[in-house]
Amino acid sequence: MFYIGCHLSASAGFLAMGETALSIGATTFQFFTRNPRGSKAKSLDTEDITAFLALQSKHGIGTLVAHAPYTINPCSQDEHTREFARITLEDDLRRMDHLPGNLYNFHPGSHTGQGVEAGINLIVETLNAILRPDQQTTVLLETMAGKGSEIGGRFEELREILDRVTRTEHMGVCLDTCHVSDAGYDIAADPDAVLTEFDRVIGLKRLRAVHVNDSLNPVGAHKDRHACIGKGYLGLEGFRRIVNHPALRDLPMVLETPNDLPGYAAEIALLKEMRV
Ligand code: FE
Ligand code: FE
Ligand code: ZN
Repeated sequence: MFYIGCHLSASAGFLAMGETALSIGATTFQFFTRNPRGSKAKSLDTEDITAFLALQSKHGIGTLVAHAPYTINPCSQDEHTREFARITLEDDLRRMDHLPGNLYNFHPGSHTGQGVEAGINLIVETLNAILRPDQQTTVLLETMAGKGSEIGGRFEELREILDRVTRTEHMGVCLDTCHVSDAGYDIAADPDAVLTEFDRVIGLKRLRAVHVNDSLNPVGAHKDRHACIGKGYLGLEGFRRIVNHPALRDLPMVLETPNDLPGYAAEIALLKEMRV
């Protein structure tokens, strides 16, 4: 089974997202747990979730990827910003318990001048404060482009976080193809080498999801500007290698390309066509 989908708006609820996903040929999808600016989340509608779960099992929709608001920063220099990140992450994980077995992805954060080590300490502190033994969701660290003071551009940084989190059994990694390329790993040209390196540093068993994005910038640019599939530096041949790679092909893959729904439908069809 090829679990491929895209980022969808969560405003109309889970059943609506499931129906939209099916209408564009998707077999999974990603959504923000709340407004990406990180404001207060709507309370979950349990009837909507029940209806979605029925649709999911009927149509074989795969594991979902929830995405934390990208504005939270658990390793900010500012204590209030860190506190807000902790409260948001904790609340999201409780809400995600209504959708057991899925994934919750977040950006590790930016150290805002404190240095990588101090940043990692703060991220670990946050995760150790919020992860619960009974939680139903696997929390994913996203591989980042290494823009500004972003943590997570190097596999070693993610490894250190995973090593120091106490409830590490609830943790994994989401690989973003645009971000790793921007960070200097040439995933389009040689996915084998990049995934061998990922395995050596982090371990492939930690890899749980993929963000499938082309990049407007060349390898190592540290910019984080997504492009549509085949319209950037990774290119169509790069994605042919990526979607078929044995270490990736069974994972949920989510497009975060600059697209409307028809554009996503076309990219999903294109990637399906590439699968061998
Ligand atoms: Fe992200
Ligand atoms: Fe991403
Ligand atoms: Zn990005």
